[in-house]
Amino acid sequence: MLVVQKYGGSSVADAGRICRVARRVADVYEQGHQVVVVVSAMGDTTDELIHLVSEITGNPPDREMDVLLSTGEQVSIALLAIAIKDLDKPVISLTGAQVGILTDNSHTKARILKVNSTRLRGELDRGNIVVVAGFQGIDEKNDITTLGRGGSDTTAVALAASLKADLCEIYTDVDGVYTTDPRVVPEARKLDEVSYEEMLELANLGAVVLHPRSVELAMQYKIPLHVRSSFNHNLGTIVKEAVNMEKALVVTGVAYDSNVAKLGIYNVFDKPGVAYRLFKALADEKINVDMIVQSAMRDDRNDISFTCTQADLNKAQSVLERILPDLGADGFSCEDGVAKVSIVGAGMVSNPGVAAMMFEALAEKGINLEMISTSEIKVSVIIREEDAKRAVQALHDKFNMARGSQE
Ligand code: ADP
Ligand code: ASP
Ligand code: MG
Repeated sequence: MLVVQKYGGSSVADAGRICRVARRVADVYEQGHQVVVVVSAMGDTTDELIHLVSEITGNPPDREMDVLLSTGEQVSIALLAIAIKDLDKPVISLTGAQVGILTDNSHTKARILKVNSTRLRGELDRGNIVVVAGFQGIDEKNDITTLGRGGSDTTAVALAASLKADLCEIYTDVDGVYTTDPRVVPEARKLDEVSYEEMLELANLGAVVLHPRSVELAMQYKIPLHVRSSFNHNLGTIVKEAVNMEKALVVTGVAYDSNVAKLGIYNVFDKPGVAYRLFKALADEKINVDMIVQSAMRDDRNDISFTCTQADLNKAQSVLERILPDLGADGFSCEDGVAKVSIVGAGMVSNPGVAAMMFEALAEKGINLEMISTSEIKVSVIIREEDAKRAVQALHDKFNMARGSQE
C-alpha cells in the first residue's frame, strides 16, 4: 500500500513527540508499505513567527511572509527525517518546491495548481520514506508560497491525489471530527463518519480540524480521509461520500469562527450598479467577502453590510474610503469584535423549523443576531465575539448533539 500521513503542529511540538512520530512511521514502513509523511511546523512556531513580524510592522509584504512562514515546516521535516534515520530506516526530507507543488502566486493563500510527483515517485521506488514540508509550494517564478493557515492538510491530500495513494491519514491532537470543537464543548461527540459536503461546510465555517481546501480536493478526487489522533491508536473519523442520505442527522455539527470582521456602508444610492461597484472594488483587492446583507430601501437609499476575514479588514476599509463618494454613501463602519456561529447538517434541507430552533436557542441565552445567512445544509449567524462560545454550547444542547439522536 501507499500511505500518506500528515502530522499537525502539536504532534511534532518537541523532540520527544517527533521521535514518537518517527516510530509510528517506521512501524508502517516495516509492514511493507510505502510512506509519505507530511508535517507542519512544530507547535506554535507559525504563530510565533507572525508575532515576531507584528513587532516590526502591521503591514508586511505577503511574499516575505511566505519566505518566513515556510521555514517552520523546513525545521520539522529535517528533524523528523533525522529521527527516522536514527531508527535505521531509509528516509529523505523534501520541501514543497523539491516535491513539485506548483501554486498560483496568491502569497499567504496560494492554491495548488499542479503536483509534479516525479521526484517523489523516484524516492519511493528507491525504498525511501519521504518526509514532505506541508503548507508550502512554489509559483511559476520559483517564489515560495504558502497555502493559508492550516494548509498542511491540503498538501497531504494533494499528494495523496497525485500519487493515487491507498490511504490518507490526518493525525492531529483530537480523536477525530467532533460534533463541535471539543475544547469548547467537552461533551461533544466524535463522529465515526462525516460526508465530504458536511465536512466542507464545517471547515469553511471555522472547524479548523481540516483545512477547507483539503476537503475540497478529497471530494474532487474521491479520497477518503481518516482524521485521528497521533497520541493513541483509536479509530478516528472517516470523511467520505455520503452513504445514507435519508438517515442524515438534521444537525451534524456546530462551527464557529472568530476571524470575522463586519463592515457597513450607509445610505448608498438604491440603483443598479451600486453593489457591483462596491464588490468589484473589493474583489480587485483579492478580498474574500462572505455574508452580504442589504437593507430595505428608504428615500431611494439603503445600507449594505458584509463580512470578511479580520486579516482583510484594513484593506477593505481603504477600499470603502476610496469609493464612498462614488456610491453616494454618507458613512461606513468597520468592526472586528464579531464571530460567526453556524449549524451544519445534510438533513436540514428536508426539515422545516431548524433555523427557528437555532434562533430560539440563541434567544433563550439573550444573544442578539446581527446577520443571518442560510444554505441548504447550513444556517450561520453573526453575533458578538464574546457570546460565541456560549452560543456554540447552547446550540449543541438544543439539538441534542452529545447523544446524536435527533429523530
Ligand atoms: P493540527 O495542528 O494537527 O493541524 P489543528 O489545531 O489545526 O491541529 O486542528 C485540531 C483542532 O481543531 C482541535 O484541537 C480542536 O480544538 C479544533 N476543532 C475545531 N472544531 C473541531 C471539530 N468539529 N472536531 C474536532 N476538532 C475541532
Ligand atoms: N504551520 C501552518 C499553520 O500553523 C500550517 C499547518 O499547520 O497546517 O497554519
Ligand atoms: Mg491544522
